Amino acid sequence: MTKPRVIAISSQKGGVAKTTTCIALGAELAASGKRVLIVDMDPQGHLSEGLGISAPALPSEISKVLDHQVAISDILIEVRPNLVLAPSNIHLAHLENYLITRTRREDRLKQALEPIQGDFDIILVDCPPSLGILTVNALSVANEILIPMAAEFYAMLGVSLLLDTVAEMRRELNPKLQITGILPTRVDRTNHAADVVQRVRDELPDIRIFASPIPQAVAVRDATAAGVPLREFAPDSPATKAYADLAQELLSDES
Ligand code: ADP
Ligand code: MG
Repeated sequence: MTKPRVIAISSQKGGVAKTTTCIALGAELAASGKRVLIVDMDPQGHLSEGLGISAPALPSEISKVLDHQVAISDILIEVRPNLVLAPSNIHLAHLENYLITRTRREDRLKQALEPIQGDFDIILVDCPPSLGILTVNALSVANEILIPMAAEFYAMLGVSLLLDTVAEMRRELNPKLQITGILPTRVDRTNHAADVVQRVRDELPDIRIFASPIPQAVAVRDATAAGVPLREFAPDSPATKAYADLAQELLSDES
């Protein structure tokens, strides 16, 4: 059984396009013929909402799997051909508090994904905007971390903090965790955005910055609101093209 690539999409900052990237990239990879699972580890449930599924109304979701009440296969939703969602909702926030008192709390997602590993080529894990136990679960099972970075003044600080966490994760829990790359997101035409990206390039020369930054585009926000993957909502948007390029860049790692 070949093991899937497991990529955590993570940043402790909110609003940097983690969830947007999970959906847009997941849909592109699925369209390329890969079998893709996207997992929501954020109690806000935005991954479901961004696919037009009401998170509060879910009968069962990832927190019950992490709590060993149901099997993961019972919560999966095939949202598009080759694109499968493991949803969450606010119950995950309650579970997070509970887990803090439990043993083996870092391993819950890893255990949960074990039985279905062979069914997917790629698993993308959408992380919450924090570095707490839910993110630690994601980084424990991932082989790779993709870091979306909104091109704004504090971006570099945020990335540095996250890299400290990655280093600690490697030491303590998951030596195989690699940084797949930094994805500049919400990039506008100002010099400032270009300066931020250049600064990251200068300060972190060993980390890949993906070749196609994701431009700021109204279509992205509207696709989120419509609950439809970007490639369907706005096939001709420059942001769609950028996510398609990102998918190809990631797939070219494998050849
Ligand atoms: P996160 O998951 O990191 O908190 P989201 O993916 O939820 O961030 O994005 C936050 C908001 O920004 C959403 O409303 C989303 O539609 C919007 N957004 C994300 N990327 C872009 C972009 N490239 N252009 C315009 N709006 C974007
Ligand atoms: Mg999010």
